[in-house]
Amino acid sequence: MITLFRHCRIATCDERSQVFERGAVLTRDGVIEWVGEESGLPAGLRPDRTIELAGRWLTPGLVDCHTHLVFAGQRASEFARRTAGASYAEIARAGGGILSTVRATRAASDEELLAQSRPRLQSLLAEGVTTVEIKSGYGLEVATEARMLRVARRLGAEHPVTISATLLAAHAVPPEFTTRADDYVDLVCREWLPALRASCDSVDAYCEDIAFSAAQCDRVFAAARALGLPVRLHAEQLSNVGGSQVAARHGALSCDHLEYATEADAAALARAGTVAVMLPVAFYALAEQQRPPISAFRRQGVPLAVASDCNPGSAPGASLLLAMNMARRLFGLTSAEVLLGVTRHAARALGLDGQRGSIAPGLAADFAVWSIDSPDELGYWAGFNPCSMVVKEGAVVLERNV
Ligand SMILES: [Zn+2]
Repeated sequence: MITLFRHCRIATCDERSQVFERGAVLTRDGVIEWVGEESGLPAGLRPDRTIELAGRWLTPGLVDCHTHLVFAGQRASEFARRTAGASYAEIARAGGGILSTVRATRAASDEELLAQSRPRLQSLLAEGVTTVEIKSGYGLEVATEARMLRVARRLGAEHPVTISATLLAAHAVPPEFTTRADDYVDLVCREWLPALRASCDSVDAYCEDIAFSAAQCDRVFAAARALGLPVRLHAEQLSNVGGSQVAARHGALSCDHLEYATEADAAALARAGTVAVMLPVAFYALAEQQRPPISAFRRQGVPLAVASDCNPGSAPGASLLLAMNMARRLFGLTSAEVLLGVTRHAARALGLDGQRGSIAPGLAADFAVWSIDSPDELGYWAGFNPCSMVVKEGAVVLERNV
C-alpha cells in the first residue's frame, strides 16, 4: 500500500531539521519511502491513496519518553496538602506519596488498572503522540511489577501506539523493607531483573534522599547492564545526590528531571551521549524553585527532551502539549528545542532513534498533523490542542475538527 500525504508544510526533525513549505511524504506499508518538496516527487508514481492536507503542518508523531500512566486511584488530597504548604518529601516520609499509589495499585485487578489507565493514554494519543514510555514502580513486589508491565503492553496492543515499557522497581523502598533498602536492592538485582528481563525495554531508578542512593542505583544499573538492558534514571530532582554521574557511567539512555544538576553533571551526560529529559509539569505541580541548568546543557551539547511525567503525585495530567508549553515558559526552551524534545531526542531517550521521531526514508510513518500557522504554536497554546490528524505506521488513526 503506497500512500501520498500531500499539500502540507513539513518539519522533518531529522539530523538537518529540514522544513518543506510545499511538502509531500510517501509511505509504503507503514514506512516512510520519500519526503521532500512536492515538486520533486518521483515521476511515474501511482499511489493507492492520496491524503490532501490543505496546507497544514506535518511533524513526526510525538514521543512521550517519561510517563507513569499505569496506576490506580489518585492523590488529590495530597495536592490539597501541598497547596496548603506541605512538601512532597514530608508527605513521602509520612507514608504518603508513591506508597499511597502502591497500595491502590496492588489492590487493583488487571482490568481495573487497564480501565483507569486507558483514558490517560487516549488523552496523549489525541495530541499526536504515537510512542509512549510507561514505567512500573507502583507494585514494589515482583508480581505487581510484572502486572504493571503486562498492562502497559496490553494498552499498546489495543491502541495505535508504540509502548516502551520500563521496569522501575527501585522507585521507593517498599513497606516490607523499611530500613532495609539495601536488602531490597539485592532482591531486585538478584531475582527480579532476571525474572522480568523479557517483559521490559529498559530499567529505571529514583535516585534521591527519599528514594535510593547513588550507590544503590549503581548496583541496579550494573545488574541491568549485565543482562543487556539499557538504563535511565530519575536524578537530581529535589537535591544533588550524584545520580547523573552514575547514569553517565553506565551509558544511560536518559537522565530525567535534573533541576539540581551541575555543569560537571552536564559534561558527563554529554560525554555519555545521555539525553536530559525535562519534566516541567512536576516542577510546576511541586512549586519547585530550582530550574534545571539549561544553559549548561546547551554549552555541553546535551540533547534535551521534554516529557509529560504523567503520574498521580507530582505531575497529575496527561498532556505532552502542556509540558511543551511549560518547558518554554518555565525553563526557557525555544520552540525548536521543545519540538526536537518530543520527537528525535525523545526517540533517542528510548533507544528508538533511527526508527521513530523523525521524518526520513526508512523510518516508521508516524505523523501528527496540526492546524497551526507555524511550529512556534507548539508549546505556545496552554490547554488547547491543535492536532487535527494522527497517522500511525501509514494509517490515519485519528481525525479531529480543529
Ligand atoms: Zn517520573
